[in-house]
Amino acid sequence: MTASLVGGPALQQVRRVRTDIPGPRSLELAERRAAALPAGLASAAGVYVAAAGGGVVVDVDDNSFIDLGSGIAVTTVGNAAPAVVSKAAAQLAQYTHTCFLATPYEPYIEVAEALNRLAPGDHEKRTALFNTGSEAVENAVKYARAATGRPAVVVFDHAFHGRSLLTMTMTAKNQPYKHGFGPFAPEVYRAPMAYPYRWPSGPENCAAEAFSQFTQLVDAQLGADAVACVVVEPIQGEGGFIVPADGFLAKVADFCRDRGILLVADEVQTGIARAGAWFACEHEGLVPDLITTAKGLAGGMPLAAVTGRADIMDAAHAGGIGGTYSGNPVACAAALGVFEEIEAGGLIERARAIGDLMVRQLREIAATTDVIGDIRGRGAMIAAELVQPGTREPNREAVAALTRHCQDNGVLTLTAGTFGNVLRFLPPLTISDDLLAEAFEVVRDGFANL
Ligand SMILES: *Cc1c(COP(=O)(O)O)cnc(C)c1O
Repeated sequence: MTASLVGGPALQQVRRVRTDIPGPRSLELAERRAAALPAGLASAAGVYVAAAGGGVVVDVDDNSFIDLGSGIAVTTVGNAAPAVVSKAAAQLAQYTHTCFLATPYEPYIEVAEALNRLAPGDHEKRTALFNTGSEAVENAVKYARAATGRPAVVVFDHAFHGRSLLTMTMTAKNQPYKHGFGPFAPEVYRAPMAYPYRWPSGPENCAAEAFSQFTQLVDAQLGADAVACVVVEPIQGEGGFIVPADGFLAKVADFCRDRGILLVADEVQTGIARAGAWFACEHEGLVPDLITTAKGLAGGMPLAAVTGRADIMDAAHAGGIGGTYSGNPVACAAALGVFEEIEAGGLIERARAIGDLMVRQLREIAATTDVIGDIRGRGAMIAAELVQPGTREPNREAVAALTRHCQDNGVLTLTAGTFGNVLRFLPPLTISDDLLAEAFEVVRDGFANL
């Protein structure tokens, strides 16, 4: 039955729970997996996928889940979106790989042109393509060091930048990302994030005090002329959808410009329509020197990019940047399909509408429970931070119970946060209002049953 199931928008848009979760076929696969895969690869859900599209993921036991995770912010335009499938399939039949470093091709240039056009700022830009978000961040640091001749990289509390040696070092959270994997890369320094909900002296002091601590780190401890770049997520993703206090990022940007420090916006999770704009930076009028993108860029095909000021990008010598698969032509074709889906489908506006709907739903739920401490995010990336009643103590247990409740009742959600106490919602922008409302009924029941 499931072998012939076709995904994409053709998939019936329903929530359906036919078996215990996980069902028997998923349990069989889990057993094979345990014998074939190492334990360090963990999955959030115990069900195995047969097809996905629109706003649902169907598993191998024919359970149909409402998707509030988009494969971690990747299938923004929906799974197996028509323009992505048709462009990638046509490219697949044409040629699958030549290596851009060996024999270049047009789709790579088209993706670069599109990103140069879409990224904030009217300066001249260049784009280089990679396979993963980590690789994009890692290369942004290479560009920044090559352009400035300086070694240090400044990152923030609660940051997530990847799992390679350098980007794992840049990531804040020990478990599970860093524990036991050191020693880490040198010349990475961490400043406090302007996290309004948890700022000790209150959200009203957050931007100014966080900025003051940041400037002390750079000026007094590191010396600004040793700092190549500041790397920041305009909305922190894995860290729990932390929207930095108003004005903080603009102050950081001005400070960096004054000192010749490059500002790198890591938009791997926030970019490409997710946050209700092509880039989350636009919400704050920020024009970063370099921007990294990946997750939503190619509808699930592995593709990542660094887009930045031409003079910086040109500072790395010929042959110093690239990779065997970087900018794979099928992934590039998929990205062109993503741009088409977003532009033709009005998906930026849709991201905002979905965000409004989710915030409304969560506020209604918050009025009925005392475990929701904060609701935040932008566009179709909205989170609820859960706390012990009447305190700000992280409530990781409630997040675990809700995630379980949602899965058992046909809704896929994701968690986040340095303390594991954030429920994050990242639906595909192709989800219907009805399906979204139905998913939040399940979430509401989950809170009622805590
Ligand atoms: C996911 C993520 C990365 C890492 O991307 P990978 O493709 O998993 O290497 C980097 N930065 C941010 C902000 C991310 O969300």
